[in-house]
Amino acid sequence: MGGYVIALDQGTTSSRAIVFDRLGNVVSKAQHSITQYYPYPGWVEHDPVEILQSQLRALDEAFENSGLLITDIEAIGISNQRETAVVWNKRTGKPVCNAIVWQCRRTAGECERLKADGMEPYVREKTGLLIDAYFTGTKYKWILDNVPGARASANKGELICGTVESWLIWNLTGGVHVSDHSNASRTMLFDIKKLDWDTELLKALDIPESMLPVPVQNSMVYGKTVKSQVWPNALDGIPIMGAAGDQQAALFGQACFSPNRIKNTYGTGCFTLLNIGSSPFVPKSELLVSVGWSLNGKTDYVLEGSVFHAGSAIQWLRDELGLISTASECDVLADSVSDNGGVYFVPAFTGLGAPYWDMYARGSVLGLTRGCTKAHLARAVLESIAYQVADLIGAIPEEYRNEIHELRVDGGAAVSDFLQQFQSDILQIPVRRPKAVETTALGAAYLAGLSAGLWKDTAEIERNYSDERLFIPRMDGKDALMLFSKWHKAVKRSLRWSD
Ligand code: ADP
Repeated sequence: MGGYVIALDQGTTSSRAIVFDRLGNVVSKAQHSITQYYPYPGWVEHDPVEILQSQLRALDEAFENSGLLITDIEAIGISNQRETAVVWNKRTGKPVCNAIVWQCRRTAGECERLKADGMEPYVREKTGLLIDAYFTGTKYKWILDNVPGARASANKGELICGTVESWLIWNLTGGVHVSDHSNASRTMLFDIKKLDWDTELLKALDIPESMLPVPVQNSMVYGKTVKSQVWPNALDGIPIMGAAGDQQAALFGQACFSPNRIKNTYGTGCFTLLNIGSSPFVPKSELLVSVGWSLNGKTDYVLEGSVFHAGSAIQWLRDELGLISTASECDVLADSVSDNGGVYFVPAFTGLGAPYWDMYARGSVLGLTRGCTKAHLARAVLESIAYQVADLIGAIPEEYRNEIHELRVDGGAAVSDFLQQFQSDILQIPVRRPKAVETTALGAAYLAGLSAGLWKDTAEIERNYSDERLFIPRMDGKDALMLFSKWHKAVKRSLRWSD
C-alpha cells in the first residue's frame, strides 16, 4: 500500500494528470484540452469551471487507468500555468468572470500608469519582477474595476481571488484558500523576501488583502480532497501536499536543487531558470527573480529569462510555409546540410524579449544566396532557438554565469537532437536531456511526495535522475563564437523594424 503520487499539470492548453511511482516512472496519465477565448485582439481568457472540470476528469481517468487502489495514492501535487487570475464568490464558488490568462495584454495601459507613477523600482525591489501586463496583480484590479458589482462584493468580503493552483486547491479541498510561494511570486503583489503580500502594492492596485490566499510553502499538507457538487465521486481524503508554478516545477523535476543548476524548457517559447540559492538580488539585466520553492523553512530563488518564439518558429515552417509536414522533419532537413549556408533566421514575430526588449523588432531571414535550400532555412530556424537561449544565459550576471557547467533541457522541442547538439556547441557546455520527459508534472509529484515521506529528501530524489542523452560540445570554441557573433549581427538588423 502507498508508494504513488498523482500530479495535476494544469497548463495553458490542457489539464493533465499523471500517476508516478517511487522511481519517478509514469504509471498512467490522462489529458483534456481547454478552450481558449480571444474576445478582443490581445485578450486571452479561460473558463475557470472548464479548467476545474477538465482537471478533475483527467485526475479520475489517470487514477482509473493506473489500476491502483485509493490507498496506494499518498498525495496529490499541482503544477500550473502561472500568473492567470481567477476571482470567485467564496459562498457560491462561482467565478465572477472568465480567468484572465497570463498572455492577455488588456492591462497594458494600467501598467503604463504604474510606470508613469514611478513604481518600477519599488516593484523590482520587492517582487523581483518588472511591471508588465503578464503578471497577475493588474488582472485582479481589472476584474474589480470592470465586472459589474465586483468591487462592492469584494469590499463586503464576498469575493476571493487566486492563481490557478489556488482555484484548484480551494475546489478540491472544499475551501482551503492558499497559494504556494512560487506562484505567489508571479503576481507582482508579493514581497519575495518577506514571503508575504506587499501592502503598498495592494494599495497601489486597490486590491483588498482579504481577497488573497494565504501564502504557503511548496511542500506541505494544504488539505484533503472532499466530495463536492463539482466532484461527486471524488477520490476522497487524499492530501494535497505540494504545488508550484509550471516553470519552477520543471526546475524541481530536473533535480536543480542547488545553486548554479539551470534548465531550459523548449516549448512554444523558451523558459530558462537558474537556481540562485537563498539570496535574491535585483538583476541589472532585465531578467526576473522569483521564488523557486520554499521547503522545510528554506527558500530557493530563481533567475528567469524567457523568449517568445522557439517551437512556434518550427510550427511556422510547418503551418504557414508548408516546408515541413511534421516538427521532426525539421531535424532531418537541418542534418542534411553540413552548415547553415550563411543563413540566419531571427524569430522576432512579436518583437524580442530578453535581453533585447524591443517590441518593434520583426522576424527576418538574412544571408540568402541563390544556392539556399529549405534545408538551410530549417537549420537556421533550429539554430535561432539555440542562439536565443544562449542570449538568455549571456544576460545572467557573470559571477553566476561562470559557475554554470551544464544545461538540463526539457519541453517539446528538446527532443530535437540537432538542436541540442547545436545548443551544446554554442554554449560550449554539456547539455543533458533526462530520461524523464514529464519534468513539470514530476516536479509537482516530488514536492507532494517529499511531504508525504515518499522520498526522504532531495538527495534521494536526485538518484532518480538519469540522462536519456548527454550532448557534449563538438564544435571548436572559435567557430561557435563566429556563428554567435553573426547571429548578433542578424538580430541588429531586425531591431526597431516596425514603428
Ligand atoms: P507548450 O507547452 O509551450 O505548448 P510543448 O512543450 O508541448 O509546448 O512543445 C511544443 C513545441 O515543440 C512545438 O512548438 C513544436 O514545434 C516543438 N516540437 C515538437 N516535436 C518536435 C521535434 N521532433 N523537433 C523539434 N521541435 C519539436
